Amino acid sequence: MTFPPLREELRGIEPYGAPQLDVPVQLNVNENPYGPSAACIADIAEAVAQAAADLNRYPDREFTELRTALAAYLSRDAAFAVDPARVWAANGSNEVMLQLLQAFGGPGRTALSFAPTYSMYPEYARDTHTRWVAGRRAEDFALDVEQAVALVAAERPSVVLLPSPNNPTGTALPQSTVVALCEAVGDDGLVVVDEAYGEFRRSGTPSALALLPEHRNLVVTRTMSKAFAGAGLRLGYLAADPAITAAIRVVRLPYHLSALTQAAALAALRHAEDLLGKVDLLRAERDALVAWLRDQGLQAADSDANFVLCGTFSDRRAVWEGLLGQGVLVRETGPEGWLRVSVGTPAEMAAFRDALVHVMDSENIRVGDPVEQETA
Ligand code: PMP
Repeated sequence: MTFPPLREELRGIEPYGAPQLDVPVQLNVNENPYGPSAACIADIAEAVAQAAADLNRYPDREFTELRTALAAYLSRDAAFAVDPARVWAANGSNEVMLQLLQAFGGPGRTALSFAPTYSMYPEYARDTHTRWVAGRRAEDFALDVEQAVALVAAERPSVVLLPSPNNPTGTALPQSTVVALCEAVGDDGLVVVDEAYGEFRRSGTPSALALLPEHRNLVVTRTMSKAFAGAGLRLGYLAADPAITAAIRVVRLPYHLSALTQAAALAALRHAEDLLGKVDLLRAERDALVAWLRDQGLQAADSDANFVLCGTFSDRRAVWEGLLGQGVLVRETGPEGWLRVSVGTPAEMAAFRDALVHVMDSENIRVGDPVEQETA
C-alpha cells in the first residue's frame, strides 16, 4: 500500500484552485474589485466583536436571524415574499452545492450539467460518489432545450446543475429552458440554478427565483462572494422548497456556520445597498469590455456576469503568460482558445486592454482557431 492510504481514484489529483499570484491587476477569480465602505467595515468589526464575547458557546445551528435576513434580501428579486424556511446557507455556495450532492446525489445516482460549465461540479460529484454526466452547449454557448430534455430522459439525473449566468461563458438561461428542465426531471430529481452571478444580469434577464412557487424541484443558489463583495466572508445560500432545506439538514455538519460568519454576514446584509452599489458600474464596464473586444476582431460571449469569455487565440497560454508578464492575471479556462477576464475597476480594465494589445502585437498571436496540440 502506498502512503498515505488515499482513496484509489484520488491518487495523483491536484487540488483545484486558480493561481493566487500577487500581481497588480487581478482579473482571474471574478471577485468584486471594490471593497466594503468604512461604515460597513466598522459595523462588521463591531458585530464580530459582540459575537466573540460568546465564543465559548456553539452558534445558532439554525442561523435563524441570518436566514430571515437572506429571505428578505431574496424577496426583492423573487417577486414574492420568500419564507425563511425556504432558505439555507453554508460556507460559500461551494459548500451549499456539496451538501446538495451529499443529500441528493450518491452511489447509483447521476449529476448532470452542460459543458462548458463550472469546473467544481465534477469534483462535488466525485467526492459524493455521484456519477457525472456533462452534455454539451451549442457553439454560441446556448443550451438546446430539446437535446437537454432528451439527455435528462436518457440519464435520469437526480441533480441537474445549471449555472445561470454560466461560468465560464457568462451566458444566462431563458426562463423557458429552466421550466422545461424542471418538468423533464419531475419529482425524481432537483434542478439547481446556480445564480452566483445573478445580480449582474442585464435588465430583462429574469432570475429563476420567480419560478420557485410553481416548481418544487427547483433550487436557486446565490452567494455573497461576487456582487456582494464578500468573497472572503464565505457565505453562500439557496432558496428552495422547505422539504429540500429539511433534507440538507441531515447531511450538514453540526454548527457549520460559525458565530463569526453569521455575525459578519448579517452586518454585511445591513449594508446591502452600499455593497451592491458598484454593480451598475461593473455591468457598464463589462458591456464596454465586450464591445471593445469585438472591435479588436475577437469573439466575446454575451455576458450577464462580471466576467467575459473571449477568444479565440491561436495560443491562449502565450496570451495568458504575456498578460501576466505585464502584471495582468486572467483565467485560462473554458474551451481551448478562450480566456476569461473578470471585470475590474476602470483603471484595471484600461491596464488589461493595453496589455492585450501589446501581447497580440509582440507575440504574433493569431486571432482564430487554436492550433491543434499534438497529443502524446
Ligand atoms: N458557482 C459558480 C458558477 C461560481 O463561479 C462560483 C465561484 N467561482 C461558485 C459557485 C462558488 O462561489 P462561493 O463558494 O464563493 O460562493
